[in-house]
Amino acid sequence: PRGWIEVVVGSMFSGKTEELIRRLRRAEFARLQIQVFKPIIDKRYNEMAVTSHNLTTIDSLPIEDAEQIWEHLKPGTKVVGIDEGQFFSSNLVQVAQDLAERGLRVIIAGLDTDWQGKPFEPMPTLMAVAESVTKHHAVCVVCGAQASRTQRTSGGDGQVLVGTHDSYEARCRQHFKPAVDTP
Ligand code: ADP
Ligand code: MG
Repeated sequence: PRGWIEVVVGSMFSGKTEELIRRLRRAEFARLQIQVFKPIIDKRYNEMAVTSHNLTTIDSLPIEDAEQIWEHLKPGTKVVGIDEGQFFSSNLVQVAQDLAERGLRVIIAGLDTDWQGKPFEPMPTLMAVAESVTKHHAVCVVCGAQASRTQRTSGGDGQVLVGTHDSYEARCRQHFKPAVDTP
């Protein structure tokens, strides 16, 4: 069986989740059995579904650790979708590799950089080992250019702060600051 890994990256609001859902729906049209996982930490719109900022949605299973995919994986599954990959620890890389070795198509969406503009593991490593990498851009809320960065606008300086418009904005390189930038 021929498995592979696809990675979808970009800033917040760049359409990663929409793209993940689009690819999974197309797999369903091809009558391929899919399964979708997301980190339990992401409860922004719905605990049991992957939901874009546009509110398109697909059912998913919240898990704490990537290894739990093995407990839930059904024998007929051909395509595995994972959203918010950056919130998993580095063992997501091995799990994705093993799924692909077994012949599954693995699609992982996530942030390539954090709110300080630094590579957000494990996404950069996944980008390196994946067969396919797609980088999406949002629209800079300051100037309308292509946004590649996620500006934090509230909530302190930890690497992980789950939020939406309340704490983040899409910004281009010029308008991004690696510090909390209160409007
Ligand atoms: P991601 O998963 O990358 O955070 P989503 O797929 O959840 O992004 O949401 C993308 C949607 O976010 C867009 O289709 C658009 O409706 C909305 N959106 C809100 N703010 C912006 C922005 N600054 N630039 C682009 N899209 C935005
Ligand atoms: Mg998303």
